[in-house]
Amino acid sequence: MTLLFFYPEMRGESNRLIFFIPAVIELAIFCVSFFLVKRDYINKIQANTLVALFVTTTAGFCIAVLINFGLAYAISFSLFFFIFEVVFIFRPIAVILINLIISAAFYVVCIFFSNKNAGEIFDGRLLVFLNILTASILGCLLNLFTSRSHVKNLIMNHSLIEERNFYREESVRDVLTGLNNRRSFDQSVNFYISVCTHVRQTVCVVMMDVDYFKLYNDYYGHLKGDFVLQSIGKVLKQLIEEEHVYSARVGGEEFIMLWTENRTIECERIVLKLRQLIIDLNIPHEKSKAAPVVTASFGVYIMRGGSQSSAGELYRMADTALYKAKEWGRNRIVLFDSQNGRFREVDIRNYKELKRE
Ligand code: GH3
Ligand code: MG
Ligand code: MG
Repeated sequence: MTLLFFYPEMRGESNRLIFFIPAVIELAIFCVSFFLVKRDYINKIQANTLVALFVTTTAGFCIAVLINFGLAYAISFSLFFFIFEVVFIFRPIAVILINLIISAAFYVVCIFFSNKNAGEIFDGRLLVFLNILTASILGCLLNLFTSRSHVKNLIMNHSLIEERNFYREESVRDVLTGLNNRRSFDQSVNFYISVCTHVRQTVCVVMMDVDYFKLYNDYYGHLKGDFVLQSIGKVLKQLIEEEHVYSARVGGEEFIMLWTENRTIECERIVLKLRQLIIDLNIPHEKSKAAPVVTASFGVYIMRGGSQSSAGELYRMADTALYKAKEWGRNRIVLFDSQNGRFREVDIRNYKELKRE
């Protein structure tokens, strides 16, 4: 469009094809390369191939212009296209700036040295031609040194972003179980507290610890111990899916769950379910004094909306409740309600009777 505007004699019917075909090819290459970069396929394509594609289409276009309009037009267009293909794709600001600076310089120089007025100069084709030519040469030089490194940078940036996202995810994930880790919990708990305090919702925090796990490791070996932790991890993932709780492994055989629920009975139902799911794993534990299979103890802290506990307090209270559960015989659930300030054991016989509301 710009070219047709500046070079009116090229507007003839027969010449439109010359602009149209390369324009479509250029556009296609432009779209394809952006698609490749975005979809990360660019990794598999050599940077050279991309640059070669630009060069070949431009060359084809320039030959067409050369045959039809002569050398001067061909040179000017080829350089002009180089800018808008390669430099413009990778360095739009640079091209705009170059063009602006050169236009301004020519404007000033022409007014200074010629007797023509500004209007005539702006209309003059020579000015446009020189402007394009110089910008093109500069753009080309710039392009020559930077286009390949730009493509490479694009690839590098893309893989760096991927790598960074990977490590960001990894940094909050527990490798053994695939659950969130302590760092994730520390980040999430404050968010939970502030949101729930704001909307006066109750937060249920559950601390869970596998019973007699040291004895399990000593008797069955560390590898089997790891398998137990992984199985518990799967149970917690099931709970995340079915009950929409937040869950993390916060220590060796310690896990924490977090969710919002105003009804204490519903909170109890979820913990009872979790306890039963672990028992149902049916992993033999001969050395346990609590049961013939692997079990866990649970400390529950219910933070009523508006009570404004800190993250540390939440953790401490759930931990104290867990300690009581251990003290009172393990494989049980002890709940601390911030409303009445008391610890009480949840009746495990309730599980079968409690249905999801
Ligand atoms: P309690 O019922 O009082 O909780 O007794 P316990 O033996 O479970 O508690 P203790 O804190 O004495 O032992 C925890 C054990 O957990 C010690 C360690 O061998 C084991 N453990 C910690 N992290 C891992 C792990 O990543 N893999 C395995 N296999 N064992 C672990
Ligand atoms: Mg422990
Ligand atoms: Mg333990």
